[in-house]
Formats: sequence, structure tokens, C-alpha cells
Amino acid sequence: MVINAMERIMKELLDEYKHGLHIKCTCSECMDDILALSLNQTKPRYVTNIDKVMYVKAEFIDKQEMTTLLVKLAECAKLVSDKPLCQTQGV
Ligand SMILES: [Zn+2]
Repeated sequence: MVINAMERIMKELLDEYKHGLHIKCTCSECMDDILALSLNQTKPRYVTNIDKVMYVKAEFIDKQEMTTLLVKLAECAKLVSDKPLCQTQGV
């Protein structure tokens, strides 16, 4: 089993901070778009066991990297909010 730990960490961050990111549409499609965009710009950290995700996460806590991840999420949230691709927004 191979898991990208960053995928879990970014998803948690997004869930936690989505209200502060001024996301226009928070449907699952837009949230996935934001997550995918952010992950494309983030170096993956692969682990072989779900339990190891928390070790990777621990490395990020209280560090500059966490801020970097949040900034990345905010940028991608803005991109998706400016141009939502989902049906909800009638694009
Ligand atoms: Zn949407």
C-alpha cells in the first residue's frame, strides 16, 4: 500500500481552514479541485502505511512548512473561486 502523506495532510488543512480561505463554492468538486491543484505544487511524501502519515505530519507542525502549505492552499482556493468548474456555479 502506497499513500501520499501530503494528500492526507493537505485535505485536513483544507477542511480546517476552508472558512478562512474565502472559497466561493465549497461543493465537493471545488474542494477536490483546490486539493488537486495544491497537491500538484507540493512535493509528494509517500509512506507505506496509514499510521506513518502522522509521523510526516509531525514534521510539519510548528514549522515554516505548514505556513507554506497554507499559503499554497490559499492561492489555489483563490484560483478555483475565481473560476469554479462545477455545475453548481453554472459555468
Ligand atoms: Zn463548486
